Amino acid sequence: MHRKRLALSLGLCLLAGASLWVLWVSVETWLPVSYIPYYLPCPEIFNMKLQYKGQKPFQPVAQSQYPQPKLLLEHSPTELLTLTPWLAPIVSEGTFNPELLQHIYQPLNLTIGVTVFAVGKYTCFVQHFLESAEKFFMRGYRVYYYIFTHDPAAIPRVSLGPGRLLSIIPIQGNSHWEEISVRRMETISRHIARRAHREVDYLFCLDVDMVFRNPWGPETLGDLVAAIHPGYYAVPRQQFPYERRPLSTAFVADSEGDFYYGGAVFGGQVARVYEFTRGCHMAILADKANGIMAAWQEESHLNRRFISHKPSKVLSPEYLWDDRKPQPPSLKLIRLSTLDKDTSWLRS
Ligand code: UDP
Ligand code: MN
Repeated sequence: MHRKRLALSLGLCLLAGASLWVLWVSVETWLPVSYIPYYLPCPEIFNMKLQYKGQKPFQPVAQSQYPQPKLLLEHSPTELLTLTPWLAPIVSEGTFNPELLQHIYQPLNLTIGVTVFAVGKYTCFVQHFLESAEKFFMRGYRVYYYIFTHDPAAIPRVSLGPGRLLSIIPIQGNSHWEEISVRRMETISRHIARRAHREVDYLFCLDVDMVFRNPWGPETLGDLVAAIHPGYYAVPRQQFPYERRPLSTAFVADSEGDFYYGGAVFGGQVARVYEFTRGCHMAILADKANGIMAAWQEESHLNRRFISHKPSKVLSPEYLWDDRKPQPPSLKLIRLSTLDKDTSWLRS
């Protein structure tokens, strides 16, 4: 009698279990939520390869699988590269017709945003930056400068041309200089989400320790725009100062890389800049969680991301030069250049 009861209750338990399982499966298929992490914005985070003790070192893919573009400036100026292997234009003097571009872009009634950070002693660059931008940057267009600073009172009042606006956005200021530079990606993406997406069509994110010397016009507008670093336009990619430690999300293997881009200039359509800065910010957060700071901070992350999210337009070093370098004959114009600054004083 006992055994019969036991068998009956066991059978009932099995039946109840099976029906619960069937119920769960059917509910799960009808649930509107999917738990696949498709929404994660930065797939590179999950590409990390663990290299265990005793394993062979990481082997990058063969050179031939990833062609490097020809060096940007070969010995003769006639060999100037004007197109990337993925068919993005490389903009430099002589590759475009300014009058024609003016005819195309002027009627579009565009607003171009600029973000600049001036934290700590870097506020001393703002006046020169703005005055030169008023002279050369997107003349004849609506321009919106966003200045991020810890000290709004330290931002000089520079008189702006018609249709040009300036907004000072207070941010925290007392962290280390590396932290300030690395937090730009986060601040820019938040600012786009809060405000800039409603106010501008294109957005350029620029360093403040720079000065415009020649016109910067609509030839620079594109979906996602990068600028070639003035220190690496003529060296093979194995010498690019990418982050080489596989532990970092900014890791680039010797066999990867197109150009080495500068962190001082990037931009594009505001929606694309949002995606881009968010992606970089996520990667920086992942590094932070692993206690690692990439070799060249946000510039390393920017370079990593531009390998998998190729820029649709590349600016030649005319748009990101460095006053500490002599102007090579192949560079016809310098449009924006980094000032020769006293780095140890600035960062102290
Ligand atoms: N920056 C700042 N305060 C700092 C450090 C950096 O405002 O203490 C901003 C500033 O806009 C600067 C940019 O971050 O131009 C990048 O830093 P920096 O120009 O020193 O880097 P570099 O061009 O020398 O690599
Ligand atoms: Mn700089």
